[in-house]
Amino acid sequence: MWYILAFVFGAIIGSFLNAVIYRLSAEGLTLWDPPYSICPVCKHRLSWKDNIPLLSYIILKGKCRYCGAKIPIRYFLVELFNASFYAITIIFIKDFVLLISLWGIFSSLLAISFMDIETFSIHDSLIISLLIFSLLFSYKIHNLFYGSIAALAGFLLFIVLYKFKKGLGFGDVLLIGAAGFSMDMVKLNIAILVAAVIGIIYSLVAFKGYKPKKAIPFTPFLSVGIMVGIILMLRR
Ligand SMILES: [Zn+2]
Repeated sequence: MWYILAFVFGAIIGSFLNAVIYRLSAEGLTLWDPPYSICPVCKHRLSWKDNIPLLSYIILKGKCRYCGAKIPIRYFLVELFNASFYAITIIFIKDFVLLISLWGIFSSLLAISFMDIETFSIHDSLIISLLIFSLLFSYKIHNLFYGSIAALAGFLLFIVLYKFKKGLGFGDVLLIGAAGFSMDMVKLNIAILVAAVIGIIYSLVAFKGYKPKKAIPFTPFLSVGIMVGIILMLRR
């Protein structure tokens, strides 16, 4: 029963994340202004019917009701991923604070990843949100001392890579620094290894060994690695 509520809540938060991704990357928009949703193409004000998480996308067949512009599949995916994660984790995790910290970390990483894919940048507020939930998770699962060591190690390693090797953005450095708190050294290494392996497999499959024409954002791979590390932290 609870997982149905968690799914619905996750979809609503996912819908909010979509608004955050769009608003933080669009010119002249803030999270509060305008206070209602608009179509990015025709600027038409959206009604509640167009804003139901997951369902509106299906009912409207992925098109704006007013101008027919295609709504990016990202809107549907973010809501679906977020809702599914909330529903699955509530089955296994009975500690409320731990659950909230895990949801916060996942949602922050989800927004960061999709924002990076679309805009090649990460907004500071998302890193701060990740940091807060990561500290909360660290406090619940082990202690801040071990978390701080992993965070510092990840931050230093990535800043060296960022300085001397192209391909890593400063956002990746901040990301591992913020998420590092939720892991110990072993899980941090696993997280980075998983991220590197998926990144390599992706570029082999997508580009067949050729050099890609434009840079590939690394944060989605890093986020998957971090989630693997964090889930391993849970089973001790
Ligand atoms: Zn429109």
